[in-house]
Amino acid sequence: MKTLGKYSIGLGDRFGHQGGAQLKAIIAASLKGVEITPVWNKSNREHTTIGTQPEDVRIEADSVTKSAGFNKTYFVDADHINFDTVDRFIESSDFFTIDVASYIGKKANDAEIARFLKSVEKYTGDLKIPGTKLSFKTSKSQITQIAEKYLFSAIKAWDIFRKIEEAKGKNNFVTEVSMDEVPYPQTPVELFFILKMLASENIPLQTIAPKFSGRFNKGVDYVGDPNKFASEFESDLMVIDFAIKEFGLPENLKMSIHSGSDKFAIYPHIGSVINKYDKGIHLKTAGTTWIEEVIGLAESGKEALAFVKEIYFKSYEKIDELCAPYADVIDIKISSLPSKKEVEGWNSKKFAGSLRHVPGNPDFNPDMRQLIHVAYKLAALRMNEYYQLLEMNEKTVAKCVYENIYNRHICRLFNIK
Ligand SMILES: [Zn+2]
Repeated sequence: MKTLGKYSIGLGDRFGHQGGAQLKAIIAASLKGVEITPVWNKSNREHTTIGTQPEDVRIEADSVTKSAGFNKTYFVDADHINFDTVDRFIESSDFFTIDVASYIGKKANDAEIARFLKSVEKYTGDLKIPGTKLSFKTSKSQITQIAEKYLFSAIKAWDIFRKIEEAKGKNNFVTEVSMDEVPYPQTPVELFFILKMLASENIPLQTIAPKFSGRFNKGVDYVGDPNKFASEFESDLMVIDFAIKEFGLPENLKMSIHSGSDKFAIYPHIGSVINKYDKGIHLKTAGTTWIEEVIGLAESGKEALAFVKEIYFKSYEKIDELCAPYADVIDIKISSLPSKKEVEGWNSKKFAGSLRHVPGNPDFNPDMRQLIHVAYKLAALRMNEYYQLLEMNEKTVAKCVYENIYNRHICRLFNIK
């Protein structure tokens, strides 16, 4: 079976220019003794917005690993695909994030629900997780509700999985199931029964992405109580561990955190919990590499700074249109956005400092950062000009990308000093 390493990180590179800088961060971690499998992910939404093809990600991943002499495993992730969007990803991807969010809440047929309920009868009453202090009260009506809410999604996941398997062959790819893009988190008990559903369908699941409590807005820090997150995360981890043994799921099944990037407040908690139990993790970061490109161009000054300022002005004008597809994962306070007039007078340092995610820097503006995060479409509309600027200022931009992934993400998560 094509297997993912114990630690893996999902890297987004919307414009396909930063794979080398991202890989450099992975190699730097390895030199510190932390082996991380790089996974380049790009969703259908991003491809559609920019006008790229899944093959482009494959070409980039192959070429940057080759030129760095990186001979370990790496993957290309068809991120958040479903039955209708998977086709064009099949050839070039070897990691599939099957997104079942849109099927949650649709009811499976009565016979399927009855069959499932029969198979989990023994967990009614008390669900104890052996070897831990965890124990949950469960009732028949609660499990029925869970089945009515999630069983249909599991069956759909199976349909999508089969479609991929028929085309790619058995064991030739990594399978993730994601349920994170929904309004409400799944509880550990729900996760337990969802894993049972997926196991019954014989899906060789290597990663599962639940929705956690708190907000995971794109490109900014976690909103919620980090301690509450830590205990929820720990419970989920124990549930997964038990489900592996109980339902015969793959030994290396691990949690995938669709972080939306930059969840600095919870990274140390995730790091210490996985360390405590010696577990793996897949951390999916979002397209914040694009923001690092904007920061790098701002730092480069002159026409590069002028270009990113124009992107900001345009994004301010088109804020509603740009934010619409991301409504559930951003929270922008419009009153905190700097005006065009203000930004016109900004130098490189001020513009870069407003966007770079350094908590405590008085210039840092999370609202502006979120707006730029969703504004990549505007650069895509001026692609030639944008690529030219990226290439002219390659060194400055690559340094921003590298430092972001390595210092702010990897070092925080894996406690590298
Ligand atoms: Zn996600």
